[in-house]
Amino acid sequence: MINDKPGTTMTVRDLPPVSQLTEQQQRGWHCVRCRAPLSPGSGIDLGEKRVTPAEGAAYSWFPRACADSAACRVRESETPS
Ligand SMILES: [Zn+2]
Repeated sequence: MINDKPGTTMTVRDLPPVSQLTEQQQRGWHCVRCRAPLSPGSGIDLGEKRVTPAEGAAYSWFPRACADSAACRVRESETPS
């Protein structure tokens, strides 16, 4: 199924494409935005996401982000991408 309706996509803002994330980010061990390691119990759970890659089977991933969004944004801007 091709998603051609922008209004029906997820509400989370500007999550990077899963293909550009590290395994640690996909598993919620590292912040999905700034890549900082998250200790267990910290960080904001952004919920399970489903992705269907161009090749292969669909799978779930579990993005998490820093609880301190201001500090996260600073780190994100300092992270070379
Ligand atoms: Zn972060």
